Amino acid sequence: MKIMKFGGTSVGRPERMHQVKDLITRGDESKIVVLSALSGTTNSLVSIGEALASADKVLAKSRIDELHAHYKEFYPQLLKSDVAREKALEIIKEHFEFLNILLKISFNEAINRDILAQGELLSTKLFHTLLEELEIPAVFLSALDFMSIDENSEPELQKISDKLKAILAQHPDDTIFITQGFICKNHLNEVDNLKRGGSDYTASLVAAAIQATACEIWTDIDGMHNNDPRIVDKTRPIAEMSFDEAAELAYFGAKILHPASIWPAQQFNVPVKLLNTMQPEAHGTLIKAEVDSVGVKAIAAKDGITAIKIKSSRMLLAYGFLRKVFEIFEKYKTPIDMITTSEVAVSVTIDDLSHLEHILEELGTFCSVEVDRDQTIICIVGNMVSESKGAIQSVIDSLIEYPVRMVSFGGSRHNVSVLIDSKFKKEALQSLNQDLFTW
Ligand code: ASP
Ligand code: MG
Repeated sequence: MKIMKFGGTSVGRPERMHQVKDLITRGDESKIVVLSALSGTTNSLVSIGEALASADKVLAKSRIDELHAHYKEFYPQLLKSDVAREKALEIIKEHFEFLNILLKISFNEAINRDILAQGELLSTKLFHTLLEELEIPAVFLSALDFMSIDENSEPELQKISDKLKAILAQHPDDTIFITQGFICKNHLNEVDNLKRGGSDYTASLVAAAIQATACEIWTDIDGMHNNDPRIVDKTRPIAEMSFDEAAELAYFGAKILHPASIWPAQQFNVPVKLLNTMQPEAHGTLIKAEVDSVGVKAIAAKDGITAIKIKSSRMLLAYGFLRKVFEIFEKYKTPIDMITTSEVAVSVTIDDLSHLEHILEELGTFCSVEVDRDQTIICIVGNMVSESKGAIQSVIDSLIEYPVRMVSFGGSRHNVSVLIDSKFKKEALQSLNQDLFTW
């Protein structure tokens, strides 16, 4: 059995949903189809929640009506028969009645999460109605019956696996299952979600839960590119990469894949394929445990980085200094991305600035601190990059024109990271693109 996940743009128009139907009915293998909400819907739901949170019911109502109008236009283009159209209208009515009721009751965070869940529920129900109309047998599964997270918002993979396997066992003869990405239940049994972009994570968790043969992520681009196509000309999709390489890239801004969605597939060794709904025959990107290819494969950049230089002469020959520093970041639940050290100083980068003032204040009690804002991490990823001859030299040579604030090399076999001022990002990426992909 394999997993096929389709993102918002792949289901965002009636004709696209028909393409998805074609794709999931190819081949004999059984599949669990995971769908996102129609593109734009989750953003709308977020804005409805925000209007309700600020007690602006008029605004909330107009946003609900706007979204409602979109669905009322969508379903007659998706479905032909009166029976199917009537069913779709019922589905839409039910979900918008629910949203409208919220205008009358007091708002809280649990309700907000309920609002966010409506998008995936709508898309899967409408898609299932399409399959019914076309007499394609498919089982509708509610992700709320098996997807769950614990009190730290971490997915409960074992529980998910037990529940999902039990549900699938009730349908031994069925081959197509439709379910929602993104949504789940939390430890209080409330409706919750896996955070924005979380449908990829659902797909990977479901793939791990049933030890699927493959986890296909269908989007609107032809795989993970070797550089950011919005910034650099002449990028190309990467044919294959290892889980480790993909994990390095997914975090550093390669928006095609939710960063958390690597580990479940990796843990159960389920190959992940990034494929293009608009060009189904294109190779896309295959992510698996081992790859033969050596050398630089991709470059990614992450903006909004702040570098903190922490200097103390007491660091000289002292032990426990780094612990003291890290404990402050831990106390304020602020993840550190890059680190470089010298004898008397350590530089770290963070991207979550919510507790910066407190962190600086506490560091200031035992060191001097300098802060550089608006920095960009450029991450160069490739199999064995750290061991390939000349890789680091090529990176440094290529960046000769730009002041490099930090370099992190040797932390993993797959990554060299450099920190530069964001104003040099575009040129730096272009230069690296030209220089690193010739060999
Ligand atoms: N619909 C959700 C979002 O827009 C989840 C997803 O599409 O992955 O964030
Ligand atoms: Mg996505």
